[in-house]
Amino acid sequence: MSSTPTPSEASGSQTGLVPALLCQKCGEATNMASSSATGRNPLLRACNGCCATEKWLNRSLAKPKGRDETEEEKARRLNAQKIKDELKAKTPEDRKKWFAEQKLSRAQEDHRTKRTFSSAVGHVEERRIASSFKDNVEVYVPFRTWAAQEMSLKVYNTLKEAEGGWEKLLANPATLTVQQNGQTCVKQFHGVEVRQRDGHEFQSGLRQRMDISDEKELDEYLEENESRLKRAKNRLSVEAKANEEEGGEKIIPLLTVRKDLGQLKEIEEARDAEMHAQAAAIAERKAREAKQKKDKEENQEKSLPLEKLALQSAKGKAVQTMTNVLLRLQTVYKTLEEEANKITENESEDIKKEQAAKFRCVAIAMQTLETAINEKDKSWEHETSTHQTADQLAALRQQITEATKNFHTTSEECKAARDTVTDVRCWLNSTKKAIRDAEKAAQKTAAGKKIAKVAASNTLEQLGMALAKDCSGMTESCGNMSYSLNVQQILAGGPPCVLDTNRSQQLRDAVFKLDYYKLQKTWVAEKMKFVQGSSCSAIVSKKAVAGRLAQFLQRSWPDILGDDPLRGIPAEAQDHFVIQFAQRHSNTGSIYARTEMNCPMLLILLEGELAVGGFRPERLGGKTLAEEVKKLESMTATQIRLEAENHGWISRLKPGASIVIPSNCVWFELSGDDDENHSIRQVLGREAFTPAMLQWLQQMDKEGSLAQNEALVKLSAFLQSQAQAA
Ligand SMILES: [Zn+2]
Repeated sequence: MSSTPTPSEASGSQTGLVPALLCQKCGEATNMASSSATGRNPLLRACNGCCATEKWLNRSLAKPKGRDETEEEKARRLNAQKIKDELKAKTPEDRKKWFAEQKLSRAQEDHRTKRTFSSAVGHVEERRIASSFKDNVEVYVPFRTWAAQEMSLKVYNTLKEAEGGWEKLLANPATLTVQQNGQTCVKQFHGVEVRQRDGHEFQSGLRQRMDISDEKELDEYLEENESRLKRAKNRLSVEAKANEEEGGEKIIPLLTVRKDLGQLKEIEEARDAEMHAQAAAIAERKAREAKQKKDKEENQEKSLPLEKLALQSAKGKAVQTMTNVLLRLQTVYKTLEEEANKITENESEDIKKEQAAKFRCVAIAMQTLETAINEKDKSWEHETSTHQTADQLAALRQQITEATKNFHTTSEECKAARDTVTDVRCWLNSTKKAIRDAEKAAQKTAAGKKIAKVAASNTLEQLGMALAKDCSGMTESCGNMSYSLNVQQILAGGPPCVLDTNRSQQLRDAVFKLDYYKLQKTWVAEKMKFVQGSSCSAIVSKKAVAGRLAQFLQRSWPDILGDDPLRGIPAEAQDHFVIQFAQRHSNTGSIYARTEMNCPMLLILLEGELAVGGFRPERLGGKTLAEEVKKLESMTATQIRLEAENHGWISRLKPGASIVIPSNCVWFELSGDDDENHSIRQVLGREAFTPAMLQWLQQMDKEGSLAQNEALVKLSAFLQSQAQAA
């Protein structure tokens, strides 16, 4: 993305302008390439300069990891902290200014950093060479060399003659000469040298380089390079001379790596110093301001009447401040109490007692706080009356201000009161959560629980437990059983349909492997603990799991599930027909006046043992459902057992066994000694079973037990319309 729009982009956008991209830190214009997003919004940018400043500040603020920080680091960190605090207190405008300044100085520094050839590389190198070359050898020779040649060739016989020849040669304009070391030399051709060279060499060295990214830097390089070369040349000659005199080998470094690296450190130190100066300036300014304020106060001539007034007002303000703290706490207390009352309204006495105890603690702490405030007020009042001079009053006023300044954090009583409030809040939150979880559980087990409210009662629960005791260790299967589904019998209250354990093999294998099953077990156990019940069932709320389980049921119990599923069940009542996991404590029992919705239910035992028994409700002799329940409640556990043994049925289920519990049937389930007792339940929503449900719902309606239960009213209407359609 580019910050400058191309023509097509410009004409394409509504305004024709791309808004300028401003750095959020320094407020200066930037572009996408040289900035980073500050948060999720990719258009809120911070320029690279400001990012570097932030990084530098954060780095300075960080404590070293895995070791103690040095004094130096600590000082640096504290300075950085000061700057950061100051930054926070700045107005947005000032903050931008600061960032802009930092950016500028950073840019200058970067510049300097680049110029220092600070990126030195050490290197070693091995080279092999094979080369051939040809040198034209031309030399300039001084007079003596030339004369020696000429005389040996007998061109001249004496040096005197040679001198004359030399003069002549120099006078010739075609002669090439140079002046060197105060002598005139003449050019001569010395032939051609042809060389063959083989070499194998090894060298080590140090290189320095600088980055050149623009023209300006290239100029800088050339300038720098020149001075460096010059310096190096000088040094080399010094070195040569020294070696010559001493006859040893002494090497002077020509590259300034050490110095250049040092310069980098200097820059770093300069920044630190600058930061230190900034921090010091802040501290000094604050101190100065504080001192000025104090001086102003002290220098003022204190007048007794004015001091008295000031003290009165300070005292009033102090008491007001403290009282406000108390009032705030009281408001919180009241709110929490109301909330708690609402939440625990329908909960057990234990929770209510716990609540009362918690809130009593708060009340006591508040009372203590109130007393403490009153006492402070009184003691100040007393001191006021004993102090006579303006200075004394001023001192007292100072003392009062100090005492109230941090009252809400430092006062012991205040702290205690706040702690109790916090404690209550925590308690309330955890209780709320527990209750909410329990409610969720209740919603999940809606099917069971709603009916339980209609049909079951405390008495039935107790009876169930008594029955478990009565039957413990002696429950054997008895009475009529059917081993294939007989719809007529199932609708008429029995006998039940008991199915082979082999059927559930696939299902059990699959279920035991499910993480969900393990989770559900722990989860339901928690709920059971909370509601202090002996059993609990919960619908399988995870769709994928419910779907898989339904497939297994369909595959292994096709005759039971049938091919006439009820379609269009009202949403409110659908939960009743969802697969449920159920679990039960060892040696407990429950007794029910009917199955859920009076609809046959498939129960598959996964783990543990379960005795399921039942008999027809007519045996109770009640005229209405309510009367039946009353009669049932009036029975003893033994009577119920005998009724099932003699006129009904009891089926003792082993793990894997499954049973269809009929409609129109009083039934019970009792667990054995096993710690784990888990089953799957599926209320069989089939068209074939609607008559029993409808009849029961209508009877409930007639007896006025249905009116408040919207789900059941809707289900009843639905079943009625189904029946009419049929
Ligand atoms: Zn910026």
